[in-house]
Formats: sequence, C-alpha cells, structure tokens
Amino acid sequence: MLTVDEARDIVLARARRLPPEPVALLDALGRFLAEQIVSDINMPPFDNSAVDGYAVRSADVAAAGPDTPVMLRTLHDVPAGALPAETVLPGTAARVMTGAPIPAGADAMVMVEDTQPGADGTVVILRPSGRGRHIRQMGEDVRRGTVVLAPGARIRSAEIAMLATMGCAVVTATRAPRVAIVTTGDEIVDIEAEAPLPPGRIRNSNRYGLAALVREAGAIVHSVAHVPDDPTATEEALRAAADPLAGADAIVAAGGVSIGDRDFVKPAVEKLGRMHLWRVAVKPGKPFAFGEIGQTLFFGLPGNPVSAMVTFELFVRQALLQMAGRAAAGPDRMLVRATLIRPIRHVAGRREYVRAITTFQGGRFVTRPTGEQGSGILGSMTLANSLCVLPEESAGAGAGDEVEVILLEGLAGSQPED
Ligand code: AMP
Ligand code: MG
Repeated sequence: MLTVDEARDIVLARARRLPPEPVALLDALGRFLAEQIVSDINMPPFDNSAVDGYAVRSADVAAAGPDTPVMLRTLHDVPAGALPAETVLPGTAARVMTGAPIPAGADAMVMVEDTQPGADGTVVILRPSGRGRHIRQMGEDVRRGTVVLAPGARIRSAEIAMLATMGCAVVTATRAPRVAIVTTGDEIVDIEAEAPLPPGRIRNSNRYGLAALVREAGAIVHSVAHVPDDPTATEEALRAAADPLAGADAIVAAGGVSIGDRDFVKPAVEKLGRMHLWRVAVKPGKPFAFGEIGQTLFFGLPGNPVSAMVTFELFVRQALLQMAGRAAAGPDRMLVRATLIRPIRHVAGRREYVRAITTFQGGRFVTRPTGEQGSGILGSMTLANSLCVLPEESAGAGAGDEVEVILLEGLAGSQPED
C-alpha cells in the first residue's frame, strides 16, 4: 500500500495549474495572482503628516519645552487632500492634518497635543521635534519600479488593499478549479426529499460537506450528482461529469471505492480513463482512489463522512490549491508540535489522523482527541479544530507526549502574545 506522502506526490504531480483570467479586484479574494505587480507610483506619493499637528522648522523648536515655550506665527491650515499654499519660513508654522502634504520649508511635525493655541494667530510649541519627525516619507512603503506582489501570491484582504493602492481594478488571477461532486449509494436520500427519513436510509451529508470543503479551498462547485449503486448509472454519471463540454477540472466522488461487490466507482473510472492509485496506508481513508478521466482529475473518497473529509484535507485540498495557482510548496496548513493530554491508542501500520482540540496554553500547544474516532463519527469532527498525526510505526502516544498537529483553522484567542 502507498504511504500518504507517496500518494500525495502522485496526486500533486498531476494537478496542473489552470490558465490565468482577468478578475474584478474584489472577486479575486482567495484566488492566486497570475501576474507580477510592479508599482508605477511611490507610496506615499508625497511627504505627508503622520499626525494632526503643526508643520515646523525643527531648528525653530529645538529648545521648546513646557518651561521654554516657543511661539510661532500660524499660516493657512492644510487639510487632507489640499495642497499647501504657503512656505514655512523661520518663525512660522502651519496646521497640517494627518495625510496632508508637508508644506515646503517645514522638516518636522509637532503633535497638536504638544502645542497650545497662542494669542493673535500664533501657536505655542511645548516640545522639540527632530528633523523628519512624524513625517511619512514619499516612497517609504513602496518605491516606484519595485515588485510589490509576485505571481502565485494568495490574494487575501491585505493583497486586495495593496492592489487597490496600485490602481488595479482588474487583476490577472489563475482560474479557480471547477469541481463536479458525485455521491453514491442506494441508502442515501437528499435533504430536499420529504421527511421523515425512510427506514434503512440516511441523508446525503457528503454532498454538502464536500461542497463546503471545495468552497473553503477557493474552488467552485460546478455540478452535483448522486448515483445509485449501479454500474451503468455510475459510469454515466462519471462520463457526464468528465465531459469536456461540461468543463469540470476535477471530480470529487464519495463512496463506492471499497472492495464491496456493490462498489462500482473504481471499475467505471478504469473503463472511462485511468486509475493512478488506490488504497493508501492512512486512517481514516484507506480506500482513497485517484485517477484521470480525459483531462479531468478523479478523486475517489471513501463514503464515510469523516474519511471523506480527512482524505479531502490530505489530497484534494492541496491539489485544488496547486491548480488554483498557489506557488508555495508544502502544506498550506499550520503544523505544530503539541503536548498530548490524553493517551491515543494506535496500531502500527497506517498513518492515523485523530480529530483533536488544540489550544495554546501557558506558552505551548496542548491537544486532546475529541472522543470516539470511528470513521462514521461526524460529531467528533464538529468538535475538532485540528488533526493529531500518529506516524505509521507509532505504538500509540501517552499523556505528556509531543505529537504533530495540523491546525485546520486559526486558534482565535489562544495565540501567543508577542
Ligand atoms: P461506501 O464507501 O460507499 O462503502 O460507504 C461507506 C459508508 O459511508 C456507508 O456507511 C455509507 O452509508 C456512508 N456514506 C456513503 N456515502 C454517503 C453520503 N453521501 N452521505 C453520508 N454517508 C454516506
Ligand atoms: Mg456505498
């Protein structure tokens, strides 16, 4: 059986980057940049004030103090957005608001808190201010001609703000992968169906859980289909999902990949395309399958909801991010070492991913399993914020042991302070 790392290498070798396309700036959130952004401006474009206060000549106020106030004649105010009309000559000062240009002649700002209104068009300065103080220099953030963002950068809120600063109303981003979701099983009913649940049936949780994972990965749920346990219906659904005219980049199927005599997914993929791997030494998720039908990648996840989610995390998510243009190599999740506070049993053989709650306490990460770990126990997935990794050869881990943990989300409120 392949190891998790071997299987991931096979998958990622086939996950090719999709073509670039123009995208309206805000719609690019969560996508990956497909162009280099070189600044054609200095940012800030002009020297401006970092405070509300008075623009002065530093030499004028060098001796200013609470007991040695310096009186300066005030010029016209400079509000943000205005251009200064006057030069600050010796003995004068101009009131300048945050973000407004520094008038010629001035080389420092004094904060308004360090001044008092004086009589007859004057201001009293109570504190010295050195050359350049409280002035944001032209180009101190971005110099004209420098690269501000590189291709493959994830477009988060900070990148959106930077792209807006650069005047990019439209950016070139890698196209988001389009995913066809196919669920299988005679026992499955859709949540749109009439309640109550007929005897012997369960609701289609994978259809929604996997669609949510697809969206969280920044990809598009392109189509959804459900097929009964029937070879012809399975083949037809996969053929339709992989049809080039339909335009899906990947199929994510759930169920029907075990060795049961009603598991028809694998034979259908073998008939329509090629399987590249089947079965991985992982728990949960051993029956994971990966192949291709034409140009469409095929991911066959086990039907158990937790197995489906874990194998999505391990194999599908990274493939989708790579197709979406992610430049960085390696996992996109935070991997940390954490102290286990409750023992975990493990039978050597497969790498195990244990649903866990991880927090940051007293300067270290602490983790504990969420309880029953059966691959159908979705409840313990809803409690988890992380997956604790037990290596293949591990004989289990005890309380106090250090273990590796994949953080599935930020740990709000439990991060170390700096
Ligand atoms: P399978 O991989 O098809 O053998 O399914 C394994 C287990 O997962 C069975 O108990 C199925 O009932 C369950 N299962 C399969 N597909 C789904 C689904 N779409 N939603 C919820 N449970 C499912
Ligand atoms: Mg099934």
